[in-house]
Amino acid sequence: MNLVSIAWELDRLRWVPSAVLALVVERDGLCMETFPDLPPWVDEEMTDRELAARMCAGCPVRDECLELALRTAGADTVGVWGGLAADDRRELHPHWLQRGERVERGPGS
Ligand code: SF4
Repeated sequence: MNLVSIAWELDRLRWVPSAVLALVVERDGLCMETFPDLPPWVDEEMTDRELAARMCAGCPVRDECLELALRTAGADTVGVWGGLAADDRRELHPHWLQRGERVERGPGS
């Protein structure tokens, strides 16, 4: 996983207000939908990294979700957001901070 290139990719969202990101994620995020049936893997034991890979696969707003998680939780992030496990987001956070100005940067900025 190239964390530097992930941080670069998020640059395109740097001037999007967090409230807009939240609306987009709530509206279009795959995990925000109400599924009539739970996915077949829901009871499988898996790491957070495996869960992120499965849960977020094909989500159209991964970058928006990841950008929002980095802004709102910073290095204190927990759970799966933006296609990444918390450990991976914590590693990503300093690279993301180095990418410079954003409309909002959240804790640890
Ligand atoms: S990236 Fe993952 S956690 Fe974020 S909205 Fe999409 S499915 Fe949900």
